[in-house]
Amino acid sequence: MSAFESFTLLLKTSGYSVTAARTAVFKTLLDQEPMSMHQLVEGVGKIDRASVYRAVELFERLGVLQRVNIGWKYKLELTDKFAGHHHHLTCTSCGRTVAMNEDELERLIAKLAATYDFKPSAHQIEIQGLCTACQANLPAQARS
Ligand SMILES: [Zn+2]
Ligand SMILES: [Zn+2]
Repeated sequence: MSAFESFTLLLKTSGYSVTAARTAVFKTLLDQEPMSMHQLVEGVGKIDRASVYRAVELFERLGVLQRVNIGWKYKLELTDKFAGHHHHLTCTSCGRTVAMNEDELERLIAKLAATYDFKPSAHQIEIQGLCTACQANLPAQARS
């Protein structure tokens, strides 16, 4: 089943219809880096802002999308169920977010949980810092 098929199935089994706005929001986020609400509203095109907000609210409730917190701001992305498990590297200068996927990290997390006799249900890891482009743009005196 494709991500889109499992999305429509989830909507239907939860008692919601597959509307143009819901489809547009899902497809705009699919296979993309996390987006701000602003980027999402731009990305869906003709759908009005209120419908996008309502779809986002519903999707958060149904576990279709989640917030990626970046300082006091956040971006939106599809949950692991639709995007696969991954973590982020976030640039604190330009706001760019890059997904990373590292088996070694997942193994370490599983091992850590076992060490503490803990049954993990979820985890979040995010690396903040400067991306390659922003490191290059930094004035010399700001580098330490
Ligand atoms: Zn950057
Ligand atoms: Zn992980």
